[in-house]
Amino acid sequence: MSKKPIYLSSIHQGGAESKYIQAALNSNSLSTGGINVSEFEKAVEHYIGQGNFVAALSSGTAAIHLGLILLGVKKGDEVICQSLTFSASANPIVYQGATPIFVDSESETWNICPITLEEAIMDRILKGSKPKAIIAVHLYGMPYKVDAVHAVATKYGIPILEDSAEALGSTYKNTACGTFGDIGVYSFNGNKIITTSGGGALVVKDQKVKQKAIFYATQAKEPTLYYQHNEIGYNYRMPNICAAVGQAQMEVLDEHIKLRKANHLFYELLFKDINCVGVHKALNEDSTSNYWLTTIIIDPKNSEGFNSENLRMALQDDSVEARPIWKPMHLQPIFEKSPYYGNNAAEELFNNGLCLPSSSNLTDEDKDRIRKVVLKYFKKTVEK
Ligand SMILES: *Cc1c(COP(=O)(O)O)cnc(C)c1O
Repeated sequence: MSKKPIYLSSIHQGGAESKYIQAALNSNSLSTGGINVSEFEKAVEHYIGQGNFVAALSSGTAAIHLGLILLGVKKGDEVICQSLTFSASANPIVYQGATPIFVDSESETWNICPITLEEAIMDRILKGSKPKAIIAVHLYGMPYKVDAVHAVATKYGIPILEDSAEALGSTYKNTACGTFGDIGVYSFNGNKIITTSGGGALVVKDQKVKQKAIFYATQAKEPTLYYQHNEIGYNYRMPNICAAVGQAQMEVLDEHIKLRKANHLFYELLFKDINCVGVHKALNEDSTSNYWLTTIIIDPKNSEGFNSENLRMALQDDSVEARPIWKPMHLQPIFEKSPYYGNNAAEELFNNGLCLPSSSNLTDEDKDRIRKVVLKYFKKTVEK
């Protein structure tokens, strides 16, 4: 008999979803926008703190696309993007007819390297094109080096689009990730820390910018009785019924973070005596990760023949889903021609790293199964 699959990151309902959905049904609010959307936006605004405005959209990808539009990215522009990320960070650059310039990671947070970032900016300026924006990503929920990265951006006067799709609830110096960039982005896709079943949000600093985002997200209709369009619009607003799910999920966000952190602790203990494995963790007390996914790296110089792909297959044999670290964008066929700056740090993470099951509803039995496979793979005794 095949075992119950254990997924990387699965849906975890909070319990109040049906209550909010029923309220939306009762008021017949089944369109985009609506009361649940504004209540959901308020909940996220309250959660991330003062001075930030949230526009709920149909996806994180839509949020990145609108973010680039709000930053004025146009055809022919160059946009710097962290190479080690999910493709949705980079695709909207191409939607705008702009060119992605990929920048490598540093090995501490696995996110955009501030030194390489500056080298890339200087070289692009030398080549005659100053980048229009920088997309920095808190990959797996781990904050990037906010101060260092933003210092470079400020020095050259380039805005940052902060892809916080995986990092709702992570903080840097006690401030919410998603609120550092000129524009921030969250995703509420089904695999993220909370879900609206599909959705995203833009975080902006100004009520007027929020209104502008909503304007573009609802077909750029001018305020006339007849349909008047002076700009190209999009259908990117969050459906109200999705926001209802989001309201319920916001109530359990902190609990989900606690559970993901407990998963991380479980893996730290599990790999404590396995010398070739490093569990990726926050650099110092400036950063807290929501530990959306716990990731590990197997040191190739000290691996004693173990490797991430064989560990992944051993887990798969037990119906446990693990996944390689996201494949860097500069190695993707679609971005083959895009310039890349770096020293293959991201490539090394891709070759030697693994994402482990990290759902907030991972059970003790699930952990026990994972533990047994891991200890067996590394030839450690499985004590009871
Ligand atoms: C999930 C994700 C996105 C895209 O969000 P969707 O809501 O799935 O469109 C963008 N960037 C990163 C880093 C992501 O993980």
